[in-house]
Amino acid sequence: MDIRSTDIEKIVRQVLESMGSDAPASTSSASVPATSRVAMLTKAEHFDIQEYPIPELGDDDILVKVEGCGVCGTDAHEFKRDPFSLIPVVLGHEGTGEIVKMGKNVKKDSAGKPLNIGDKVVTCMIFKDNPDITMFDLNKQNVGGADVYGLLPDDDKHLNGWFADYILVRGGSTIFNVSDLDLDSRILIEPCAVLIHAVERAKTTGILRFNSRVVVQGCGPIGLICIAVLRAMGTENIVAVDGEAKRLEFAKLMGATETVNFKEHKGIEALAGAVKDAFGGYLADFAFQCTGSPVAHANIYKFIRNGGGLCELGFFINGGDATINPHFDICSKEITTVGSWVYTLRDYVTTFDFLKRAKGIGLPLEKLITHKYPLDKINEALETNLKMEGLKIAIVND
Ligand SMILES: [Zn+2]
Repeated sequence: MDIRSTDIEKIVRQVLESMGSDAPASTSSASVPATSRVAMLTKAEHFDIQEYPIPELGDDDILVKVEGCGVCGTDAHEFKRDPFSLIPVVLGHEGTGEIVKMGKNVKKDSAGKPLNIGDKVVTCMIFKDNPDITMFDLNKQNVGGADVYGLLPDDDKHLNGWFADYILVRGGSTIFNVSDLDLDSRILIEPCAVLIHAVERAKTTGILRFNSRVVVQGCGPIGLICIAVLRAMGTENIVAVDGEAKRLEFAKLMGATETVNFKEHKGIEALAGAVKDAFGGYLADFAFQCTGSPVAHANIYKFIRNGGGLCELGFFINGGDATINPHFDICSKEITTVGSWVYTLRDYVTTFDFLKRAKGIGLPLEKLITHKYPLDKINEALETNLKMEGLKIAIVND
């Protein structure tokens, strides 16, 4: 070969120039279709599968191919009677998928990790009005009430929720690279973040310790994940309370040491006695209230020792008033209570590590996902959720 170095330089320059002039505004993997299906909630208790063109991406936008999305209690409420007045809306906020196309400005996720085509991601909050806000500004603030994909009214782009084939993640959204988590773990991130936050709130009381006796009341997905988070944190002595034997069995899988079925005990005195027995003759140091039942809220004080603590997180939405006796339940026992709602962005990132640790100590969190439906069976999926069958229900695309 007798190509001289000057020739090589010339060739390289030509190649670089041609790349520069032809460089697309966004990069993508080869097979992005022209349209995407979405599940549009068009009236109460009815999704229509609709198809829309996939819009052009802005320089800060990301197109994600949806792999799966959990069905949340919030979705079930919205499906049933549109309390948030969002119809028509593409729901689904507990979703995850793979980046298939990105605007040229997209380089890193909200935690500073690089983002590339093929990475698996989740979204959290959208800060449309202030895209400069960073996750670290919000560490102390509960992010409830912020905009979230899957709870946005429909617009001309349509790809606003995770119950779809594709979602358009716009600049100013928080997005996290979670390629190191499997699909089931990624679907569980959002509900798990609620419990990471609750346990962080509980820790602020100074009462929750490694060797604390902890009672968790309510063994739906939230109570069960609460047990798993406590277990992953090193809490050994956990008593679960629920009215369903099946859920209590599940509580043991998640790390509960003992269980109490409230249906087997008539009256609050007997129930409190059963909780005390389950702790070997002691009341709880700390309690997590994970049901939306006012009666359950009133009952839980009876499970807590003098000087103990309570985290109330069951009333994600207004479930009515509860009747307690302030003297016996709070004052004379000197109970320290905290409320917990949603999570901070810091909790969201902590959740990724929690999911790895839970796996590491053998907690089968993936079993929480008891039902998986394809997108075109979404009406059935929501009906199953409303019937309170199973635990976590998910839409999973193939
Ligand atoms: Zn949710």
